[in-house]
Amino acid sequence: MILFKSCPRCSGDRVSESDAYGPYILCLVCGHMAYSESVNPVETARARKTG
Ligand SMILES: [Zn+2]
Repeated sequence: MILFKSCPRCSGDRVSESDAYGPYILCLVCGHMAYSESVNPVETARARKTG
């Protein structure tokens, strides 16, 4: 899932991913990474269901 222009640092496009630590959002432009605390809980639950 791509979150357009959502980066707090550079306003770039970000993509939601997940790893062993849980879901996170990675900026494709500057590499800024944010863990689930800033992820929409609804989207997180949906991702876990499909994962
Ligand atoms: Zn960025």
